[in-house]
Amino acid sequence: MRKTVYICDASWRITRVLCDGLGCGLAAGEALEALLEDPDQLSCGLEDLGIEEAAQDHQALMGFAPPALGRDGRVLIHSYPHHYLVFAFSAADETAGLELVSEYIDCVQWADENLQTPYSDGYGHIQALNNKLINAERTLMAQKAKLERLLEERERALRTIEDLEHDEVTGLLNTRGFVLEAQRLLADAKAGQYQITVIYIEGFRVVNEVQGTASADKLLLDIGAFMRGFAKDTQCLLARIYSSTYYMLGPADAHLSEDALQRTQDFLRAYPVPVRLKAHAAAYVVKNPSLPVLENANRARLALEHARNDSGGRVAYYDDALRRELQERFMLLDHVDEAVAAGEFLLYLQPKVDIRTGALIGAEALIRWQHPQLGFLTPNRFVPLLESEGVIYQVDLCLWEMACAYIQERRQAGLPCVPISVNVARADLYEDGLPDELDAMLARHGLAHDDIRLEILERSYAQDAETVGRVIARLKERGFKIEMDDFGTGDSSLAMLSQMPVDALKIDQSFLRAGEVDERKKAILRLIVELAHTLDIPLIVEGVETQEHVALLCELGCRYAQGYLFGRPAPADAKAARG
Ligand code: C2E
Ligand code: CA
Ligand code: CA
Repeated sequence: MRKTVYICDASWRITRVLCDGLGCGLAAGEALEALLEDPDQLSCGLEDLGIEEAAQDHQALMGFAPPALGRDGRVLIHSYPHHYLVFAFSAADETAGLELVSEYIDCVQWADENLQTPYSDGYGHIQALNNKLINAERTLMAQKAKLERLLEERERALRTIEDLEHDEVTGLLNTRGFVLEAQRLLADAKAGQYQITVIYIEGFRVVNEVQGTASADKLLLDIGAFMRGFAKDTQCLLARIYSSTYYMLGPADAHLSEDALQRTQDFLRAYPVPVRLKAHAAAYVVKNPSLPVLENANRARLALEHARNDSGGRVAYYDDALRRELQERFMLLDHVDEAVAAGEFLLYLQPKVDIRTGALIGAEALIRWQHPQLGFLTPNRFVPLLESEGVIYQVDLCLWEMACAYIQERRQAGLPCVPISVNVARADLYEDGLPDELDAMLARHGLAHDDIRLEILERSYAQDAETVGRVIARLKERGFKIEMDDFGTGDSSLAMLSQMPVDALKIDQSFLRAGEVDERKKAILRLIVELAHTLDIPLIVEGVETQEHVALLCELGCRYAQGYLFGRPAPADAKAARG
């Protein structure tokens, strides 16, 4: 059977022959609509429909059977507003075309009799309704297809989100996932209801380095699986944040964090790797659940960083004391530049004396900080911090400058001067410009190299003898005198003594600390004194507080001393007679 579709306008003029092999019903309606919108559109793509199905479709759509045209053909007619759609089914032979024409004419007559022109009567209205229904159904179907597409997309998106929110090694939540879940959990939480615990596994990086990524990943996976069980039992949210750091958010219960730490520790102890693994934990009870999750978690992290230094094996807590400490750190570090400019750093001096004559042989420059908020601070409150944060150099430069200015002022006032020794932090020794900076400073104040002594800590030398030795040599070449500070505290002080190109040794005050001058210390001190004498290096003993100390020093043959007995560090006053 050859099937051909025509479109006729209301006056039965054929406006277009569509194509062969078309179907009926919805498909034809769609084709017509497409055609009306764009005449070039409709050429193919409609389903092929058998004549019987087409007839049924016609019956269903129109409510009556299609007109039979006898022989080997039929014509089906659908009426659309302003158009008829005519389906002609005929034998596909040479004469088909001719026959179609007569069929078509029959069909036109039939349609004129039975259908009349569209919209000309109630039928047109019914047909229009019918078309509406068809359109509605078509819309529904299109929407159903769209919905299915959307559902698929949603499914894909969910899978992507799943990937985005989970850590691929352990399958636990990652940071993003943790934040989202925690936000949900904390949304209605009360202050103090939840706590965040951070667990860090020390030694993981060594496993990574020594045993390779595969073993390290396996370790993470195993720890993750172990913790997952624990978190489930305790209804905690668990996430791996980075490397071997895990976050747990759960009910505020100190016992829970302690337990987590203990159990993780036990797990690690039994874990079969030749690397010592250790768990550290810190917790923060969430006081303000509406703060960003990571801000709250960060408090636990800060506590952890603090706790990692002391390996107490206990859960550290972020609390008010720690907050105060951190605030103080911030207050100290935040405005070092301004403090230098505002003259908040003060020069204190402590005398060095010859115990045999009582003569002043020098002074040590010691720093103090008159802090606008924290008040008067001694170096132990800020020097180690400034050192560890890498900002000690500018502060030291400032103090050295003050020491130079002090000597210059005295000299200009015609007052007696002794050399001032300044403390040089370990980090200062790694500043390339140090020797030039010092020279420039002396030049600015018209001083000689001999006016200033540089105190370098023995431990700075011990930690990196090569570099520090080189710096010392350079400084000595320029003419500076070097004193080795806190001498005798290192493990190999005696062994180092012969290699160190220094001009004096300052014996650490721990040798004399009140009531503690036991025989062992005395023996070491004696050895140091003998060796220093042999090598002809002058000794200055620090922390001399009592006459007994002086007696001991005399007995040992030490000549120079510094300590409260001879004078505490005092504000530098260039006008004072002794200085
Ligand atoms: P240091 O260089 O060993 O300085 C000696 C410290 O011992 C001073 O403490 C001094 O006040 C204290 N001292 C002196 N005699 C006695 C005594 O008889 N008994 C006792 N118990 N202590 C005594 P200070 O001024 O608190 O300085 C502490 C440390 O801070 C210094 O130890 C030094 O390492 C560092 N420091 C001080 N000023 C500066 C500075 O300007 N720059 C750098 N980088 N570090 C400094
Ligand atoms: Ca010193
Ligand atoms: Ca010292």
